[in-house]
Amino acid sequence: MDISKLDKKINPSGTMVISNKSRALKLQGKPVIGFGAGEPDFPSPKYVVDAAIKAVSDPKNHKYSPAAGLQSLREVIAKTTKDYSGFEISSDNVIVTNGGKQAILTAFFSTLDSGDEVIIPAPYWTTYPEAVKIAGGTPVFIQTEKSNNFKVTVEQLEKSKTDNTKMVVWCSPSNPTGVVYTKEEAEEIYEWIFKNDIWILSDELYEHLVYEGEKSPSPAIYDPEFKNTIIVNGVSKSYSMTGWRVGWLLGNNNVIGLGKKIQSQATSNVSNVSQLAAEAALLNGLEVTNEMKIAFNRRRLFATEKINSIPNLNVVESTGAFYLFVDVSYYCTEENGLRTSEELCDWLLENYYIAFVPGEVFGTPGFMRLSYALSDEELDSGLSRLSEAIDNLNE
Ligand code: GLU
Repeated sequence: MDISKLDKKINPSGTMVISNKSRALKLQGKPVIGFGAGEPDFPSPKYVVDAAIKAVSDPKNHKYSPAAGLQSLREVIAKTTKDYSGFEISSDNVIVTNGGKQAILTAFFSTLDSGDEVIIPAPYWTTYPEAVKIAGGTPVFIQTEKSNNFKVTVEQLEKSKTDNTKMVVWCSPSNPTGVVYTKEEAEEIYEWIFKNDIWILSDELYEHLVYEGEKSPSPAIYDPEFKNTIIVNGVSKSYSMTGWRVGWLLGNNNVIGLGKKIQSQATSNVSNVSQLAAEAALLNGLEVTNEMKIAFNRRRLFATEKINSIPNLNVVESTGAFYLFVDVSYYCTEENGLRTSEELCDWLLENYYIAFVPGEVFGTPGFMRLSYALSDEELDSGLSRLSEAIDNLNE
């Protein structure tokens, strides 16, 4: 029997593929250092774990709860969104999701019909185009320029727009480049989106991880009615809670109304224990985030310098998230037998046990992404291995 044609259209998550390859090598006893999937190396805060222990002991939490999320958590999300992100949202306009990924998928299901186009500036996070396709839409890519620090421009958006354009996906700080748009740049893009009356899906998972300058203002600040704006956020990166799977979707009544119907059919509620752990995270403020930020910033500066000192490698200037996007195109040659960044990353993993995500996964070959959310020691020794590998290519 045939399975769905979707099988030919979508790819598995490229970041997860790298994690799985590294895990398999580790199981064989290889000393793998993972710069692959981005997740903070810190344990979740103690108050989060304590809240979860308390929650799991309460029989009330062993039962179903509202599909859109626990009312107490939705209220805390609304309050902390105002305090930390600077815009108002009613708790009625929040859906708690199983991580940011489910929020993204629900956002696409809630807005797209077959044939609708979603503009995705590349390099992009690997999940966006696949989630658009799963929801029946068509991704349309804009290849942004390295010379412009991989920032999309209004001129590029204008050129890609058709009668079928329904949405633009936006992520600042960016995964995979760590690039942060300035307020002026962001405002120019938002103005274009609002003028054209299309949706903007703003992925704000990294909003608290900006090391230099200001974070980009959210489009929701300029669109208080959420006429064109949908926001995705979560606790994974800011509170080192990737495995708890708690994200959220913010939108207007129509988006949230349909999103709730979808979630009630697809998954019901997110685990109550995880929701109450996330509530504790948010209620305890950004102190823990700011502590992690100090470590991330130290590693960002260290890794940038160390990679830039390796001959013919250079890092895209990055001031946010915990990623560096490295230009490796110099070494992608027939002569080396490593024709693409994908082949180079495979070679680095198989021979030097260092895991990077190739630029192909983010729609931009010739580069590789590294996450510096790992210990200082691992970062140092992993980058020494990279330097050694490149020395061997140069010999
Ligand atoms: N968002 C992280 C990354 O890009 C986690 C992996 C994933 O969910 O794809 O590495």
